[in-house]
Amino acid sequence: MNLFERIDHWGAVAPQAVAYINGDRTLTYGELRRRSDALAAHFAGRFGDDRAPIAVLGHREQEMLIAFLGAVKSGRPYVPIDTAFPQQRIDKVLAISRAALVLTPQEIAQMPAVDEPTAVSYVQRDDPFYILFTSGSTGEPKGVVITLACLEHFIDWMLAEQKFVEQGEIFLNQPPFSFDVSVMALYSSLVTGGTVFNISRDLVANPKMLYRALASSNATTWVSTPSFAQMCLVEERFNEAMLPYVRRFLFCGETLAPQTAARVLERFPNAEVWNTYGPTETTVATTSVRIDVAILEKYSPLPIGHPMPGTEVFVANEKGEALPANERGEIIIAGPNVSPGYLGRPDLTAAFFFQHRGQRAYRTGDLGRFRDGLLFFEGRIDAQIKLYGYRIEIGDVEANLRVLTQVRDAVVIPVVKNGAAQSLAAFVVLNARGEQSDFELSDTLRKQLGERLPAYMLPRKFVFLDAFPMTANGKADRAKLAASL
Ligand code: AMP
Repeated sequence: MNLFERIDHWGAVAPQAVAYINGDRTLTYGELRRRSDALAAHFAGRFGDDRAPIAVLGHREQEMLIAFLGAVKSGRPYVPIDTAFPQQRIDKVLAISRAALVLTPQEIAQMPAVDEPTAVSYVQRDDPFYILFTSGSTGEPKGVVITLACLEHFIDWMLAEQKFVEQGEIFLNQPPFSFDVSVMALYSSLVTGGTVFNISRDLVANPKMLYRALASSNATTWVSTPSFAQMCLVEERFNEAMLPYVRRFLFCGETLAPQTAARVLERFPNAEVWNTYGPTETTVATTSVRIDVAILEKYSPLPIGHPMPGTEVFVANEKGEALPANERGEIIIAGPNVSPGYLGRPDLTAAFFFQHRGQRAYRTGDLGRFRDGLLFFEGRIDAQIKLYGYRIEIGDVEANLRVLTQVRDAVVIPVVKNGAAQSLAAFVVLNARGEQSDFELSDTLRKQLGERLPAYMLPRKFVFLDAFPMTANGKADRAKLAASL
């Protein structure tokens, strides 16, 4: 059965089963099937042979799921966009994706229901299924195209490795749909007849409500960035008594610190902890390892694991030649889970993707090495960072700062504590210094930048300089700037 048949199967055999819980709103498998079929018929009728993507702009509403499936059931990929993004960023994403339509949950809710949908043509294996936008180093977001075949390869691996119980799992999902870690919970759940329990940003912002929601979730599978778990661990009550059914924690998206894994294992002695790794370009995650006490005792930093079956992961030198175990190089991923490339960017696609032994391959820009048959992550080749799980190109923040009228030049430096970025600091050379104090200026620039970039990309600290210190070859001396923080 393909992915659609697997999801629709639950709509046929268990129409009343709950597919999705978001606050006090729920969506059943029956509704999901009926309404996504109706929407697919609507798209097919409205757009005919035009297979332009459908953009879905919201924040975890159940209608988003209906629109995702409605789009792919009509042969069109979807582009999930979170409402936390500022309008200018949304406009860029829409322009790059050339979306046929932007749908909000309110509009989806009002779409006419069709009882007998006409035959529609589903996305085929090599067609784009979703397009996710990530930070791009020049200030333009990059649209990563993921095909149905990529997604099926990933989900089949998740199912084989995690052995989810059919109709027996409640997946707790924290990342927004615009971040691909959410795909792990969403489709693992939908193909196994499970329930996705959402943790919205309102809950994250209100600890009391958050812990109440967690306690009421009956979650069996936790999917989040390590940062979110770290935040929850601050509360002593975050333990087995609060989540008595949780059997596994699946972490993805950023470094899992040994202390975080150890504390989760202490608080949840009956649950497994998994570290999974992979960029959006290779569909959510590509390697995984269960972190048990033996691994914790042996390794710090923790390994990111073994490659998924059917996919080759190797470490290469600058010439692209595979390196033996224990040698450090760039992590390369080749297999059916690798994206065909960036939407509308053949230049970027050619720079990062290539063919390897008949499979698509991607240069991750991550440094790593194999030890004892396990892969270890050792930082980045370039200026990409992770801040609370979010992927940020430093060049993206700098490019967007430089276009502000008051700014002549800008350098952004991550503020690192205990090996992880905690915030961003911007060093700015102004065109002209007016009457404003540093505090007022920082506030003005942050607000202006906030119209262009999501909140998580905004520098916390601004430092105003007459000129940057220079390296011997005339570049801004980032090391010196970082040392001055
Ligand atoms: P994204 O495309 O947002 O999922 O970000 C992918 C990048 O996040 C990878 O290329 C790594 O740099 C980093 N990353 C993802 N998972 C892990 C992990 N388990 N450990 C360390 N870094 C990770």
